[in-house]
Amino acid sequence: MPNAYLPMVAASEPRLLRRLRALVEIESPSHDKAAVDRAGALVAGWAEELGGQVKRHKQRQFGDVLELRFGASKTQVSRARPGAPAPGRVLLLGHLDTVWPLGTLARMPWREADGRLYGPGVLDMKAGVVMALEAIAAAKQLGMERPVTLLLNSDEEIGSRVSRPITEKVARTCSAVFVLEPAQGLAYKTARKGVGQYELRVQGVAAHAGVDFGSGHSAVLEMARLLQTVAGFTDLGRGLTVNPGVVRGGTQSNVVAAECFASVDVRIAKASHAVRVERLFRSLKVTDNACTLTVTGGINRPPMERSAGTVRLFKQARSLAKQAGWVLDEAATGGGSDGNFTAALGVPTLDGMGAVGAGAHAAHEHVVQRHLVERTALLAAMIVGE
Ligand SMILES: [Zn+2]
Repeated sequence: MPNAYLPMVAASEPRLLRRLRALVEIESPSHDKAAVDRAGALVAGWAEELGGQVKRHKQRQFGDVLELRFGASKTQVSRARPGAPAPGRVLLLGHLDTVWPLGTLARMPWREADGRLYGPGVLDMKAGVVMALEAIAAAKQLGMERPVTLLLNSDEEIGSRVSRPITEKVARTCSAVFVLEPAQGLAYKTARKGVGQYELRVQGVAAHAGVDFGSGHSAVLEMARLLQTVAGFTDLGRGLTVNPGVVRGGTQSNVVAAECFASVDVRIAKASHAVRVERLFRSLKVTDNACTLTVTGGINRPPMERSAGTVRLFKQARSLAKQAGWVLDEAATGGGSDGNFTAALGVPTLDGMGAVGAGAHAAHEHVVQRHLVERTALLAAMIVGE
């Protein structure tokens, strides 16, 4: 139970805070391989101190993906339930990259005020990374027999294109995935929407708006009609949202526009909605037949549905939290994470197990310090799987 881990985690809180500051002070924007690798080197060193094996999945364009393995390498009998099979390998899933460009620290330095810890990437998700290491340390001290992998990706904030196959490969060897993304308020996340992006391009026919209006076919007008249709795909009751977030088109007000472009964000609550959304976008038709429409894109993160396996993990966490005297809630979110990929494989996934705070991707990004110890203790208890 988390109570057993609390004193250990509390005793190591100064180290947790020291490490968090050190990691925040190594800026690690997704697009800067050298920077992300510097952050990775620091974390790999801490993992080695803990007896972890470090495997670097080398990347050319982005930072290397770090696979850190701890604990028993073959199945052992759980101490908690003698005779019962030990829980399988658990995957702790996080990322090293942040949305903040190099130089952000100069105007947004590490700062502690009113029990809050500020700095670029502190909440999303450097705190989650150091919490994972402290949770593993505490679990090891109490005789952890369960094998643990901490996988730290390098391109999560830009869509996890290179890390996704690695995440999926590692997740397939695990019986549970704990995602170290920030909590939703105080809650763990048991469902996330799937995410997609579609691009619409309309090609019209340019003409002088005064001299030759009749021979023009406006791409802008055609796009306006299409976006009305696209916006109508939203079905709030089903958790399906469609947002045309970007539109660009035309050159001058006195020219009938020859081109228009739109980028549309799509969120789906159920994997089965992906087919429906795909069909809707592919069946879009122009009204003005002199215009042509091209549609590209698709759903790129499947939803993390509130599966039975996820609910089981959440109930376990809630009862452990209760034993420690606090109430843990669950929440659903429209945002995606790498947990979407592991959940879609059918591996029970619980998300939002990182820090409590606010302002991810915003200038006031911060972690609330007083929750760090209890959340890390709960993570340790969940890792051990008692
Ligand atoms: Zn994140």
